[in-house]
Amino acid sequence: MKDLSTDRRRFIKQASMGTIAASIAACTPNTEVLQSELTEDPKSSPIPLVISTWPHIADNQIALLAVQEGRLLDGIEKGINNVENNPKDQSVGLGGRPDRSGIVTLDACIMDRKHRAGSVCYLKDIKNPISVARLVMEETPHVILAGDGALQFALDKGFKKENLLTDQSKSEYLEWLKTAEYKPQINVELHDTIGMLAIDERGDISGGCSTSGLGYKMQGRVGDSPIIGAGLFVDNEIGAATATGMGELVLTTLGSFLTVEFMRQGMTPTEACKAAVMRTIEKNKETYKDMQVGYIALDKFGRFGGYSIQPGFQYTVTYQDHNKVFDAQSYLPK
Ligand code: ASP
Repeated sequence: MKDLSTDRRRFIKQASMGTIAASIAACTPNTEVLQSELTEDPKSSPIPLVISTWPHIADNQIALLAVQEGRLLDGIEKGINNVENNPKDQSVGLGGRPDRSGIVTLDACIMDRKHRAGSVCYLKDIKNPISVARLVMEETPHVILAGDGALQFALDKGFKKENLLTDQSKSEYLEWLKTAEYKPQINVELHDTIGMLAIDERGDISGGCSTSGLGYKMQGRVGDSPIIGAGLFVDNEIGAATATGMGELVLTTLGSFLTVEFMRQGMTPTEACKAAVMRTIEKNKETYKDMQVGYIALDKFGRFGGYSIQPGFQYTVTYQDHNKVFDAQSYLPK
């Protein structure tokens, strides 16, 4: 097992006591987090660990099993596959809400400890875009494949075409068509992309992100989720971050990259997520009150956190035999 203590000491040294105190306040519900924020002892870090946006306990558990076996990337892929395969989840994979033309299009990306990345955008008829994104990363010279090219690549790799529009999502869409009123503002019910980050016992980090995007988006719209640095960013030397919420705001601040860069400057994960949200607010003063953006982050030592504009954003942390769903702190009060 890699000795993290030297790195950890350097990292902790960078953070001022004020910084650490603020992060303690941000993490009050979980005493184990308090310990991992404070200690320099690598043995007390709760790693391996998986963190994901929204309440995704079963999916995190699947991921953690693989991570514990030393299969970090399989953990990310299989954990996210479990959400993609669930027709009841209307924001990811099978059962995702369609665009305003009634077509389900999926976005996903993956990034690993070696700084490799793969992504698919505007993928139709294939329920596991995270798996296709992984193959783009591992088996092509490219990072992003989109639309028909992404579909053809998936078919060439043996993925099967299927109808992703479930009866539930179809009937809600037909209801929506009666007014066809599209509000760029989103609420918590219309989005819950899965972003998942994991750290293994060596301290290596990978992450993935998968979504059907905003419900009733314009045809052709691609959000933040498949864009490296926006919906997801991993720097194995520092940590990782992933986003959920209004993709346009995440795209224009490159929010996940920004969050990781804030951690590089010495912020804790919670502080970094908060700083990225504050940047979004600063750049969208007229509109942010009607929008949701949430980030989660994980650093090299297994410390984690989250922050959002609106209340109601949750994230799930799984390690050893613990599963904890946290209410992220938010800029706007409840
Ligand atoms: N970020 C996603 C997008 O804009 C939406 C979501 O988080 O549900 O496509």
